[in-house]
Amino acid sequence: MEPTEKQRKNNKAQEASPRFPKGHLITAGALCALLPLLFVVIPTEDAAATRHTTYELPLDLSETSPAAPEAPDSDPATVAIAEPAPVPERNWHEFTIKNGDNLSLLFQRAGLSDRDMYEVIANKDAKDSLRRIYPGQTLAFKMDADGKLAALRYDTSKLSHQIFTKTDAGFDAQQIDRTPDIITAFRHAEINSSLFLAGQQAGMEPALIMELANIFGWDVDFALDIREGDSFSLVYEERFLDGEKLDNGNILAAEFVNQGKKFRAVRYENEAGIAHYFTPTGDSMRKEFLRTPVDFARISSHFNLRRKHPVLHSIRAHKGTDYAASTGTPIRATGDGKVIHAGRKGGYGNTVIIQHGQTYRTLYAHMSKYARGVKTGSRVKQGQIIGYVGSTGLATGPHLHYEFYVNGAVRNPVTVPLPKANAIAKSEMNRFLAQTTTALAALENYQKTTQLALAD
Ligand SMILES: [Zn+2]
Repeated sequence: MEPTEKQRKNNKAQEASPRFPKGHLITAGALCALLPLLFVVIPTEDAAATRHTTYELPLDLSETSPAAPEAPDSDPATVAIAEPAPVPERNWHEFTIKNGDNLSLLFQRAGLSDRDMYEVIANKDAKDSLRRIYPGQTLAFKMDADGKLAALRYDTSKLSHQIFTKTDAGFDAQQIDRTPDIITAFRHAEINSSLFLAGQQAGMEPALIMELANIFGWDVDFALDIREGDSFSLVYEERFLDGEKLDNGNILAAEFVNQGKKFRAVRYENEAGIAHYFTPTGDSMRKEFLRTPVDFARISSHFNLRRKHPVLHSIRAHKGTDYAASTGTPIRATGDGKVIHAGRKGGYGNTVIIQHGQTYRTLYAHMSKYARGVKTGSRVKQGQIIGYVGSTGLATGPHLHYEFYVNGAVRNPVTVPLPKANAIAKSEMNRFLAQTTTALAALENYQKTTQLALAD
């Protein structure tokens, strides 16, 4: 069910800025009659009574999207709230579910009996969903004038509510799902100490920084290749509910400049609903090999570019790449393949060798231990943890020694031309361009704004 016409108008009236898109309410369930009540914005004197009644706005939208391009006629003062909360209603008594709670206990806390509880769960939907309640969720009770239970509301998340309402024929169930408002946000940072510090200074959560790094993980070695002066910009979604930030949505487009080399990626969702990142011309960002064989988050988070890292050449005729990292740092397979060796190998110590098709082979040495299930003959996926950094064999300190072979000869994975995979098909190109142009244009606009700001 969509909101009624009247509610639509209400929402419309409160829509002020294209930057704060219209919120939608999707409701499902049989009871339409109850719906109008649920959309009522409750009087302010009750605002403190339930947690759904406070409609806080981001005080300054520019804080969440520092240089969001201003729509020509948007007046910041009218950037109000997208929608009233649908759930608030007078006389809800809310209880946050705690560890060890059960339904019976919560009814008791609300001053109700097991009999009241059984009346509610006589409804099959109620029984099914209230069978499993989790700490942190909310159960709210509404009483009628006689102090009898009139309705029970179960908030499974901030976006999903179930309401069980008393009728002459027992309790009725209704599901209300809310759709968050999505804002496009922008970030830019120049790296002068570490990727994580730069991201944090630009106001990015660690998970968002990781997501950004993962998009470029086939092109940039985030453990070894990051240099002072590298930079990144991104356009991503932030999800809001009632003016309060819920979480981040997807990164829509991003650019990473590594040692002067520029990489650009844009998110594209195909007709099957599967999303991946591509270059603006439709080549996949995914490649057969990841650039970093170690969990770089563990390294990068305390990686200082100004500090020189000791390079440990412990094996004679050194022919690989060394990643200094503390013992126990996860090591990842850089490509899909089959383990052809997992065991001790002379000065290499505990070593895993993976064969990738006919042409490629990778080697990981000095491991402290192997990941579970990794043994000669097992198949591994790209990014899968195969073992942990150590200093077994001839190593003077904990590090991963990594070698990359092409047709049996050690090569530098950076300079070896590798096959491209999964480019956008010609027949899909129009769809791809139609979907990605806006995000890329937004990224470019933002970069121009940032550059202007820097030039000032
Ligand atoms: Zn080495």
